[in-house]
Amino acid sequence: MSFKFIHRIAFKQARSVLLISVLLGFISASWQIYMDIDLEKQRIKQTVARIINLHQDTAARTVYNLDTLQGEEITAALILSPIIHHATIIDDFGDNLATSSRDPADKTWLASMGSHFFQFNSHIEEPLIITPPNQNNARLIIDLDTAHIANTYVHRAIANLFMTLISSVILATIFLVLIYRYLSQPILDIANWVNQLRQSEVCPPLPYNKPDELGDLAAGFARLWEERKEKTDQLNETINRLSKSEHFSRSLMDNAGDAMFLCLPDSTIIRANHQAADSLKTDEDSFIGKSLAKFSKNFTAKTLQELFATIGDKQPCTLEDIQINSLGEFVPVEARCIRMCLNDKDYILILARDISVRKKAEQQIFELAFFDTLTGLANRRLFIDRLNTAMQFHQDNQHYGAVLYMDLDRFKTINDSLGHSIGDAILCEVAKRLTRILPENATCARFGGDEFVALLPDTGQSAELCAEIAANHALQILEELVIPFEVDGHQLFCSTSIGIAIFPDKKHSAMETLRHADTALYRVKTLGRNSFQFFDPEMQSSAQERLEVEKGLHQALKNNEFELWFQPQVSSDDKILGAEALLRWRHPDKGIIMPGSFIQIAEESGQIVEIGNWILLLALKQLAAWREQGLPESFKRLAINISPLQFMQVDFVDRVLEMLDQTRIPGLLIELEITENMLLNNFEIASNKMKLLKKRGISFAIDDFGTGYSSLRYLHYLPLDVLKIDRSFVTGLRPSSELAAIVAVIIATADRLNLTVIAEGVETLNEKSALMELGCNGFQGYLFSRPLTAQQFYDKLQQAEQTFLV
Ligand code: C2E
Ligand code: CA
Ligand code: CA
Repeated sequence: MSFKFIHRIAFKQARSVLLISVLLGFISASWQIYMDIDLEKQRIKQTVARIINLHQDTAARTVYNLDTLQGEEITAALILSPIIHHATIIDDFGDNLATSSRDPADKTWLASMGSHFFQFNSHIEEPLIITPPNQNNARLIIDLDTAHIANTYVHRAIANLFMTLISSVILATIFLVLIYRYLSQPILDIANWVNQLRQSEVCPPLPYNKPDELGDLAAGFARLWEERKEKTDQLNETINRLSKSEHFSRSLMDNAGDAMFLCLPDSTIIRANHQAADSLKTDEDSFIGKSLAKFSKNFTAKTLQELFATIGDKQPCTLEDIQINSLGEFVPVEARCIRMCLNDKDYILILARDISVRKKAEQQIFELAFFDTLTGLANRRLFIDRLNTAMQFHQDNQHYGAVLYMDLDRFKTINDSLGHSIGDAILCEVAKRLTRILPENATCARFGGDEFVALLPDTGQSAELCAEIAANHALQILEELVIPFEVDGHQLFCSTSIGIAIFPDKKHSAMETLRHADTALYRVKTLGRNSFQFFDPEMQSSAQERLEVEKGLHQALKNNEFELWFQPQVSSDDKILGAEALLRWRHPDKGIIMPGSFIQIAEESGQIVEIGNWILLLALKQLAAWREQGLPESFKRLAINISPLQFMQVDFVDRVLEMLDQTRIPGLLIELEITENMLLNNFEIASNKMKLLKKRGISFAIDDFGTGYSSLRYLHYLPLDVLKIDRSFVTGLRPSSELAAIVAVIIATADRLNLTVIAEGVETLNEKSALMELGCNGFQGYLFSRPLTAQQFYDKLQQAEQTFLV
């Protein structure tokens, strides 16, 4: 630090001292001069008085004697005094006795300035006393040399002033030197020393160590420096350590093979490393502030937060996840989540390792372990595993599944004659065709060679239905595999044999089921190939029968083989109130087939929808024809059975209304019979449909009441009109029997709900009277009439007042 001299305290002090002392000196000198003026006046007066006094007597005597000579001696003596330049003695006659004078001093400007201050009488006349007194005119006249007096005085004053100034300057200089020596210089030294302190590593020796204020100051500085140095050293050491550890952790993060995310416990990312950015194809900064869940397929911010909360201090957790990179690709990762506490704050460090390669390898191993390498189908192991699972599942839910064991009929010949590559191509094509035609939930496997096995889980609610569907699939497979294979320009034919086993069967395991299918396959081979066989012969005939029925139903619709028959419903006084339309199939070979043998199959195969629509239209058309011919007043309604599947069709209501319009039948003449199970299973939908149809006057009957849930409480909420007591309650009904008690409850409840009751299957008079006793007034049964053809029924109607009693 370099000070300019004029900025130094010593100089400033000296300058002030100089100024002040000069000013004070000047004032005091002026005061002194001023005070001296009076004193000087006094002194001159005294001197003049003394001189006059000295010569007064002599002058008086001279006047008395008129001694001019002596007079001149006196005046000459008087002007010897430097302050007197003219002296005259006047005698008592007023004449000039003696006079002496000399030139006064030069009237310089100093003299004129002095005389300005010395305003006094310079002309003095002193009377001379003569005895005896005469005329008292004698006197001594003196003129003072004012220029001389002023000159003398001014010179002295100037000298005085000069001396004062000189002493002021000397004082200021001394002051400057002292202040510089004792204050400024040490302060400067201390300042330089402090400056050195800033750069030096060790404390330089104290620049000042006298026991005074500056000494204290310097010592204070030294102490402060030592303390600061100590602190700085500590701080530096800490910073050093920190930066080492920061560097360490950063290089640890950046050089780690794994992606690392440092998150807050709420899953917000606060830092991520290069690998994280690399693996998610983004940059490190774009992670900051986002939730880790943004990059996860399996976790949400909430589930991550919950997971992080479970991580203990010493219990990291490991998980697998799929991360989504910025291109939307999935990256499988294995992540280790560690809880960390930094500065009393909790963090979660996630180390995520890309396990794509491992997953791929696992997948390969899985495929090798569970899949056939040639066709990509499941292998035996996976198949048996799935079969076991399906068997367990079906044992619980009482559904049925099927195993289809397939073998290509002429494969060995083709393979041996045309070579393995062609054989392999055929196997692959078979696999493709099978995968295409089998349902999605099926497992298709290759057991080696030309053996294929298909697992069809959840195929039917009954073993029979399952068998039929399995047979259907088998037929489809046979059809598909009979199509020639085009390989390398060869057109190759290769039919298939299929053995089928249905499961579950409590007695048999998965392996036994498989063996059963194999046994059935063997049977096909011996019976002539390109066909299927069930292990269970009953199943074989049932399935075949059902298949036949199904096929037959197709034909029946096409060939108009269905008929509607009508069974009268009568009142207690035997009037025909209406009829129930019942389906009959007039088979070209087998004659009339009752609905019991085909309705369920039609229901399960879905054909019932088409058949049902046909029935509806035919029933309405028949009713329209009768109306045209004329219907008796007593005839109220025609009841038509509606299957659940048909009723649940989305367009059912529209269809019915359309048919009513088409045949011009008022809804009031129609009663739809539905089962309570169907109603309760789809309460909401069924109820809505019923309400819509009800608006057109259509009434509803609950069929087979008593065989299902029989929940009248629920039925109360539906727009029902008729309740048909199932035949099982009517057959053999006797008053006061157990059955009668049940029927009584049904009738009482129906009354309360305002429902008309019709008893089904009334065959005897006893049954009728028992029913009447219980309050039932509607009947249907062989007692009154068997179902009749349309013509027969109309004829019956015509016979008014006819009694049905035989
Ligand atoms: P269901 O609706 O309970 O029909 C009454 C069945 O009882 C009829 O059998 C009828 O012939 C029979 N039956 C009537 N009175 C007596 C009797 O006194 N004694 C005995 N033993 N039987 C009597 P069917 O015609 O064989 O019909 C059987 C079932 O087939 C019907 O039972 C119904 O569930 C269904 N079905 C019949 N026709 C149709 C139809 O057009 N559509 C639909 N979806 N199902 C129909
Ligand atoms: Ca019915
Ligand atoms: Ca019934």
